[in-house]
Amino acid sequence: MIFRALFWVVRALFILFVIRLVLRMIFPPAARRTASRPVRPPSRVPERAGGTLARDPSCGTYVPQTSSFRLQSGGETVYFCSTACRDAWLAARQQSGAKLA
Ligand SMILES: [Zn+2]
Repeated sequence: MIFRALFWVVRALFILFVIRLVLRMIFPPAARRTASRPVRPPSRVPERAGGTLARDPSCGTYVPQTSSFRLQSGGETVYFCSTACRDAWLAARQQSGAKLA
């Protein structure tokens, strides 16, 4: 009889459930990571505790403003991840400037 088999399956599942419940009461589970993990709001510009990140206009990577290669350009500061990026950006700018002039 199918119903009789089903009854036994449900009964076995119920017993397993009770055993699990009892085990949980005896051994409480450790604090779950998912519960304690803080939810971070999504943001386009990533920020760190070390300082604000600036976008390298040459390669597009984000660099901390405190440990980047800075360049004053037209009243604003441009941040680069490396001197190579800075030089490449400067060369490209000079090229476009020469074309404009
Ligand atoms: Zn770069």
